[in-house]
Parts: sequence; structure tokens; C-alpha cells
Amino acid sequence: MDTKFAVLLVGQGIYRVCNSSGHTFYIVTGEERSAVIDTGCTPGREIIPLIRQYTQKPLSLIITHAHSDHIYHLDEFDDIYMNHREFELPDSFLQLMMEDKQLDLHQAKDIRTGDVIDLGGKTLEVLEVPGHTPGSIALWEKESNCMFMGDAIGSGNDVWMQWPSALPLDQYYPSLLRLLRWTVERGGRMQLLGGHAMQCFGSHLLAYNPLSLGWLCDLIDLVDQVICGKIVGQPSDVDIILETEPPLCASFGRAVLQYMPSRIHSQSREKTD
Ligand SMILES: [Zn+2]
Ligand SMILES: [Zn+2]
Repeated sequence: MDTKFAVLLVGQGIYRVCNSSGHTFYIVTGEERSAVIDTGCTPGREIIPLIRQYTQKPLSLIITHAHSDHIYHLDEFDDIYMNHREFELPDSFLQLMMEDKQLDLHQAKDIRTGDVIDLGGKTLEVLEVPGHTPGSIALWEKESNCMFMGDAIGSGNDVWMQWPSALPLDQYYPSLLRLLRWTVERGGRMQLLGGHAMQCFGSHLLAYNPLSLGWLCDLIDLVDQVICGKIVGQPSDVDIILETEPPLCASFGRAVLQYMPSRIHSQSREKTD
């Protein structure tokens, strides 16, 4: 029993791994290959030995987005996938996300909406959900009906749109609508699995506030009302990097959003106002 990691079976042959910092990654075991979705950020080189306790198949690493707690162990994998829009982020930001490593993000193969990664007996379908970062993706495993969300809509806690890697909220909103339609078209009853399953960010929410379609709908309403000015957040002391203005925090129903007041409307919208 490894006390650095808490491993939970969340579907047949699908494991959720939380490290001691609350970073969450997933192992999806197929008949031909196994996928590792994100890596967490754990000192040392301990995640591959852990993963090997659950699968001996060749591994494909799928990065939901290029934040350090999702890419840090990328150099321990050979077959890597990531959406191309992460390269819209400045090199200086991506470098910051590598912490003490020199990671080669360009070795990652591009994956886009509609792409399907076949593991043998399990498939992972890609949906781009730009917002938290430009190249954030969700992955749907059809057979188990699990959706791996990364940080695209939070993990039942604050959605972090205050970091400089986030798109303006008026670009996030259509992305959320597309996500809702996409999930409903696939039956809507999937288990939504986030990138920080057990982590609390100090918001007012109870620890148990699992992701669901209801959460997503509350988030859609919240983002819309912030864009329209009907909801204005309160000053927040949540983590920021490379920013000078204080972030705001707003909530509606089950959803909580951290955001920057200067990044509600995109530039083109500001020009027409
Ligand atoms: Zn994260
Ligand atoms: Zn993130």
C-alpha cells in the first residue's frame, strides 16, 4: 500500500489516483494499450512504478492541459497526446509550468474534437473545451461512460479562470454550451471526473460537491451572468501567477468561479462596445 497515493477504482479497469497534494490523474486499462490521463506533480519518479501495479500494457499519456500538475511527469512517457492550442500559451508560461524540468511538449501528438484513441475494448473520444487553457480537452470513455475533465470545469470546487492561461469568459461560455450539448447527445449520464478530485481551494463549498450535469448548468448560468454584469464577484485571495490585478470570486448554485475583471470580454468585443 503506497501512502503517497490514494487509488480508487471508478469504473471497470479505470483507476483514479490522487497524490498527497490532491492532484488527480487516471489510469484507463485497455486490452491493447492503457492510457494515463495527466500525471499530477509528485517528487521523484514514482508514478510509473505505481501505474505498473495496475497495468502492464504499453502506455499512452494524454494531457488534458499544460499546467504543471498535469504535465510534470511527461518525460517518463514515450507516447504522448495534447491539443495543439496549448501552444498559443507564451513559451515563458509553458516554461514556468515545467517547474524544475525541461519538458519537450512538442513531442506530444495533436488530438482534436472527434478524435478517438482506441485502447482495445475501451475508447477515449476527445472534446476540446477551451477556457481554463486554450487547449483544454475532455475525454469520454464510452464503455464505462466516464468523462475525464481535467480542470475544464473544475472538480466540484472553484473553476480557475484567474490564471493568465485562461481565455476571456465570453469565449469560455460557448465552450461550456458545446460541452453540455456534447454530453447530452451521448446520453448525459456519464460520471464526470476532475483533475483535483479531493482538493479544496478554500471556497465556501462543502467538500462533497461532485461534478454533474447540474453543476455544469450552474456554471453556464454563472458565467453568463458574470458576462452580462448581473453577477459581480467579490475580491478573492486565491492563487494567482504573473498577474497584477486582484481576482474576483463569484458563485451561483453549486458552481464557483475565480476570474479576472479584465478578462470577461475578449478584445474584439471591447472594440465594438
Ligand atoms: Zn490542475
Ligand atoms: Zn489547470
